[in-house]
Amino acid sequence: MNPVANQNKIYIYIKCKKCGTEISCVTKSKLTPCKCGAISVDGSNDLVRVIGEIDNCEEIQK
Ligand SMILES: [Zn+2]
Repeated sequence: MNPVANQNKIYIYIKCKKCGTEISCVTKSKLTPCKCGAISVDGSNDLVRVIGEIDNCEEIQK
C-alpha cells in the first residue's frame, strides 16, 4: 500500500493497466474499485490510497 500525497489542486486519476479504468482520486473516502478489480482507490482531498496490485496502476494528471 503506497499512500500518495496530493497537496495540489490538480485532478489526479489512477489508471488500471489491466482494464484501462481511470478512477478519480477524489472518491470522498469511498473505496472505488476498477472494472477488473485489480486495484481500488480510496481518496480524499489531500490523501490518496491505492489498494491492490500497485504494479498494475499508473498515476495520471489532468
Ligand atoms: Zn482494472
